[in-house]
Amino acid sequence: METVSALVAYAIDHGMIEKTDVTYVTNAILALLKENPTPETYQKPKTTQRTLRVFLDPLLDLAFEKGLLEDNSVHERDRFEALIMDTLMPRPSELQHEFNQRFSQDPKAATDYFYALAQNSNYIKTDRLKKNKHFSVKTAYGEMRATINLAKPEKDPKAIAAAQSEEETFPPCLLCREYVGLNMDHKPPRKNHRTIKLTLNEEPFYFQFSPYVYYNEHAIVIHQDHIPMKMSQKTYRRLLDFVDQFPHYFLGSNAGLPIVGGSILSHEHYQGGHAHFPIDDARVLESYQYGSVTIERLLWPLSALRFKAKDKDILVNVLDRFEHIWRTYHNEALGIISKTGVHHNAITPIARKDGDTYQMTVALRNNVTSEKYPDGVFHTHPEHQHIKKENIGLIEVMGLGILPGRLDTELPLIAQYLNGEESLQKIPKSMQPWAMELQDHKPTKNMLEYVYQEAAKIFVNSLEDAAVFPHTEVGHQAFNGLIQKFMTT
Ligand SMILES: [Zn+2]
Repeated sequence: METVSALVAYAIDHGMIEKTDVTYVTNAILALLKENPTPETYQKPKTTQRTLRVFLDPLLDLAFEKGLLEDNSVHERDRFEALIMDTLMPRPSELQHEFNQRFSQDPKAATDYFYALAQNSNYIKTDRLKKNKHFSVKTAYGEMRATINLAKPEKDPKAIAAAQSEEETFPPCLLCREYVGLNMDHKPPRKNHRTIKLTLNEEPFYFQFSPYVYYNEHAIVIHQDHIPMKMSQKTYRRLLDFVDQFPHYFLGSNAGLPIVGGSILSHEHYQGGHAHFPIDDARVLESYQYGSVTIERLLWPLSALRFKAKDKDILVNVLDRFEHIWRTYHNEALGIISKTGVHHNAITPIARKDGDTYQMTVALRNNVTSEKYPDGVFHTHPEHQHIKKENIGLIEVMGLGILPGRLDTELPLIAQYLNGEESLQKIPKSMQPWAMELQDHKPTKNMLEYVYQEAAKIFVNSLEDAAVFPHTEVGHQAFNGLIQKFMTT
């Protein structure tokens, strides 16, 4: 079992285990594989290979041959891989201890350690993430980015069927803390999943990384309890407490309403990370002073403001007051219907800390639907949905489009069509009008690059569709009117 000893050596080299653990960990992996040891099993391997897959794939093949996997699907292989990698992971209490110790010296050292562990244990599947496409386009708002994410696996049909059956409803959602170390058929494999306990606004939260990593150190901060998303003073406090503790990270929240919110509204959670986004470079159109709080109106496809203050309590109060005024703001001419039985106005807030100044960038959202726009008046309009139909959530608001995996085949197909190598009929129907439009302005070379750029432009159009105040004279006046109303009441 040279692969087992090589895997154990990898874990030592990456600081996941210590030499004292070798026999114990080796035996734990052998137990999973139902293999018996030989004297060589415990010896340091001759191989100098350092790529995890080189050790893992043969072990997963062996597990399948021995009937330890239900089938040879990606899901089953991932599940067994998580069992193996879990043997190399610290217990949650050990991890917490190590994290806290580093945190007391330097918060960045603590997150660096935790992120490296998530990568080295292949909880974050770095090899799959390399396949993701990234592209950007220069616009009037700055350089906007988009990515086609292929790391998130297609939903297993068995998992969908299981989700509909009664007995599989616990844990209630993917963010619940019961997923730590969970190994359940037809649920995402989380045996090697770990979280860090945090206190925000004197409430218990857990900090973990997203296994799909849409950007650097993509973190999720989750309330201890399965309680629904709700925007309130508490939200701002929690976000600001987090950036106080981790000043090198940002943390933002999706709006707590459908259409303009994230995909999971049933469990209070936020997304953050060690990353810089196009919205951070947005140009300031106008600046207002409200007591000690500076309010900047940003040149951004969505209607966005940035609040800046040195005092956290003052900032929280101002944000709360502003959200209150925005919640009841009604402008029929612009289609901003604040209430039809339920409230429609919401915000997407994003917190950062710059030196001793707190920043909260706020995008104004509204989730009303109409006969003309049944998917949402301020949602991607039908003429832009061939690129992205899904919600414009927090990450998109910041200027990074998370585009669906289907584009990975559809965009190259369109480039081939433009090059005269493929017929129009080969392109999905919903994409054909756009492909014909591109035909009229196509360049003479770098066709694929051109198609990616144009796709990114359509993503920016989607963001503009989500702007409650349009980029017109009337829109600017109305936006200023809202700010004046806030400043004078
Ligand atoms: Zn939950």
